[in-house]
Amino acid sequence: VTDSSTGEDLLVGRAIERLAGGPTWIVGPGHDCGVLRAEEGAVVTTTDALVDGVHFRLADCGPEAAARKSLLVNLSDLAAAAAEPLGFVVCVVLPFDAPDDLFDRLVAGLAETARAWNCWCGGGDTNRGPGPLTLAVTAFGRPPAGGIVTRSGARPGDRFSVTGPLGGSLLGRHLDFTPRVREARVLHALRVPHAMMDLSDGLSTDLPRLCRMSGVGARIEAGAVPIHPDAAVGAPTGRSPLERALDDGEDFELLVAHAPLEDATRVALAREGVALHEIGRATEPREGLRLARGGIAMPLVARGYDHFRGG
Ligand SMILES: [Mg+2]
Repeated sequence: VTDSSTGEDLLVGRAIERLAGGPTWIVGPGHDCGVLRAEEGAVVTTTDALVDGVHFRLADCGPEAAARKSLLVNLSDLAAAAAEPLGFVVCVVLPFDAPDDLFDRLVAGLAETARAWNCWCGGGDTNRGPGPLTLAVTAFGRPPAGGIVTRSGARPGDRFSVTGPLGGSLLGRHLDFTPRVREARVLHALRVPHAMMDLSDGLSTDLPRLCRMSGVGARIEAGAVPIHPDAAVGAPTGRSPLERALDDGEDFELLVAHAPLEDATRVALAREGVALHEIGRATEPREGLRLARGGIAMPLVARGYDHFRGG
């Protein structure tokens, strides 16, 4: 650092000290480009931008939690592909009127998550603008042997399962959750997933996306959907816990399409502590998406979060 360093340079220099690390970056932050080590000849990549007032409320959750979430949501997407996190890059757009400590507190949240997941930063960019705080992270991962799991491998007759209970994430789980990286790799090692995705916008919105990519329909058994206790807490809108499990979103559990499980696979999953709650099955595409209650199947309506529809 020389006398000609600007305030921004000093800020970024401090961030680099806290966010750079790990063996996967051959060239780390501070240059025009970073270089990621990728012996396998393929790198998995995913990106997500989080905006204050949309994906978090900065005034309520604070910068550390917002920054943690910006990395965790990307790790969740890597998990959906059964990829192993290798590193990330981040762009931060600070509001013109941001308090002096905002950037350092964002870096603190990112650094905590980077350490927890041994997934370090290889570069980034900082800007200022008139809008709300925006955090855009791009993460990189190592594909599992044989290639990643996508959304397109489900076939009629497959079972649909989720890795944990759904609904009520706004009580706190939407900010602080465990991306199912380990679970995905266990599932992949046991050759379970035909198709997989992480549940970010709600089962009723995300399931159709997987079905579309796979060219299948779905029949979900309402009674089989695991409902998180938080889905029953303070529901001022009068929606039932089941509706909240289907629609709330930001559960960040995995939705997995797979063949009916053999006993040996069930035993292996239990030994690894990986839960799979079977919620229904993939059907022929002409059957569409249905939700069955007491033997009566109704159309499954997507009421999850859609950024381009609102609410
Ligand atoms: Mg996703």
